[in-house]
Amino acid sequence: STDAPLLRVKDLAVRYGSAQALFDVSFDLSPNSALAVLGPNGAGKTTLARTLSGLVPSCGGSAEFAGQDLLKLTAPRVRRAGLLHLPEGRGVFPGLTVQENLRMALTADKQARNPGLERAFEIFPVLAERRRQPAGTLSGGEQQMLSLARALMVSPRLVIADEMSLGLSPKAVDIVFASLARARDNGVSVIMIEQFARRALDFADQGLILHRGRSSWSGPAQEAGEELLHRYLGGA
Ligand code: ATP
Repeated sequence: STDAPLLRVKDLAVRYGSAQALFDVSFDLSPNSALAVLGPNGAGKTTLARTLSGLVPSCGGSAEFAGQDLLKLTAPRVRRAGLLHLPEGRGVFPGLTVQENLRMALTADKQARNPGLERAFEIFPVLAERRRQPAGTLSGGEQQMLSLARALMVSPRLVIADEMSLGLSPKAVDIVFASLARARDNGVSVIMIEQFARRALDFADQGLILHRGRSSWSGPAQEAGEELLHRYLGGA
């Protein structure tokens, strides 16, 4: 496509003190598409997510998001620019109802008249059914769905989902993938950090495999066959 990329990352480098965690990582993400970021433990996946979302400083390279220089923005400004990072862990407030959790995503002045709540319930009917239920009583997959629905309340252009399926049952993992598919159907691009490589690649348009902070493979997701996964991920 001739679309300008929504996100263009070039030669990104990050260090924690004297230890370098990312070396020259580059990729483009088109609008309305999904990227699966894969790699073994310690490869730098979370570091990539945290750097793009303004939580960790870079020491080289560039990242342009919707025409803005992402690496110069603070975390709140990155969010305002339309990039939302869902960190590992669910981050819902278990004692608050589903509806209260969703409302918390909005500033006080917006809460009264924001159509986002009804829209969230349209996208995720399961949450509408459970709107008055404490979030802590939802299943693991439903809690992730709520976490994603809350992120979508502020109409992001890109969501970075870090290990959303971690520790979930197979059925809950299905819910997570279906929820991310819904987000994408609603025009949100997705960077998915995943342990389930095959599933993530089936979902995504593009793949990026990191190994010790370097990109060891990137390309169209459907080109990542079993042999390639075995070579780079040890058959994950
Ligand atoms: P996992 O799949 O285990 O979550 P990951 O691919 O997300 O791993 P990162 O968490 O990005 O990997 O870590 C990349 C490297 O950076 C690792 O060697 C890690 O020990 C190191 N690292 C991460 N965070 C910090 C930090 N705050 N200070 C120092 N080193 C860090």
